[in-house]
Amino acid sequence: MTYYIRDTLPEGSVLGQRRPTINEFFLSSYTLSIYAGCEFGCPYCDGWAYGSRPLNEVVRVPFDLPQRLDQELATIDRRDLIGVTALSDPYQPAEQQYRITRQVLQLFADVGQPCLILTKSANVLDDLPLLRRINERALAIVMTTLVTMDPRLSALLENKSPLPGVRLEMLAAFKRAGIPVGVAILPILPYINDTDVALNHLLRACAEVGVDFVVWDYLHIPNSRHRMRISELTPRINSYPASYYRDIYAERPFVSTLYRTECDARIITRCDDLGLEMHVPHSIFAGRLRPSNEAALVLKHAARRDILQGRINVARQHSELADLIYRGQATQEQLRASSLWDDLWAILETK
Ligand code: SF4
Repeated sequence: MTYYIRDTLPEGSVLGQRRPTINEFFLSSYTLSIYAGCEFGCPYCDGWAYGSRPLNEVVRVPFDLPQRLDQELATIDRRDLIGVTALSDPYQPAEQQYRITRQVLQLFADVGQPCLILTKSANVLDDLPLLRRINERALAIVMTTLVTMDPRLSALLENKSPLPGVRLEMLAAFKRAGIPVGVAILPILPYINDTDVALNHLLRACAEVGVDFVVWDYLHIPNSRHRMRISELTPRINSYPASYYRDIYAERPFVSTLYRTECDARIITRCDDLGLEMHVPHSIFAGRLRPSNEAALVLKHAARRDILQGRINVARQHSELADLIYRGQATQEQLRASSLWDDLWAILETK
């Protein structure tokens, strides 16, 4: 049972500070959470690791968010994208009742604010006309999270969320409406959804509905509270020796580099086979974001493939230059020294 609490936001900025580095998965300079808490309560969600109450017990409904955001939107660069991607689904059941997300999208549509929405709920289709307007004026991208296409595993990992097939049909509807769509495979859980069979099944399903791109990352275990939750979850799925996760995480929040490199390589090979992009394609955001954001993303996306192909130094240079450009601190000399200079010049000098 989830309780809804009508609430007002604490004092201070709704959007927070502009991110110090651009988010290469979601293209975002700001991250916005509409509700606090999430009724879907997926057991792997990072949201369980923070907060004093269980993630799905109470959902706070911020009645003053649209009004506060309206004032703040006037103060930010219109070509900085806002990602509605934080640890609370914007179309969880509370949205049917309170429509805070819809009010936010209305503001975005009125001012032409680029945004990216990440949701597991097909109820986002109710706001397709608004998202189409935003995409016509600026840029709107709709993403869903998928961790498996296996109904048994889905029931164990996300039994309160809409079925994976429903989420993919939702993306197909947006795609038909001309709105770019992507899938976030978040998270990849070692030994649970990382087998070749599971990943192939999932990626093939994405390719079949024609998603524009996929992104992925690995289970994050930020603290001991979340580690305990994951330790309880894994035996419910299969019998795993406890050492499996100890070997891969070794008490760190992130998977080991060895595990990440091996799994990334498998996914990229499969994406290449299926013709799936492994980040938002440049053609989707070209000319629709601040030029410095666009150039930073081109570099960050190139760096990802560089890492996988063993060009570690080049990847580091691309990544560092991306952050300098994004913050407006790159010199002409630094730009000219980049192997992607021609692309960067075309973005930064012609707009
Ligand atoms: S739907 Fe998203 S935000 Fe909500 S619990 Fe699941 S993973 Fe977390």
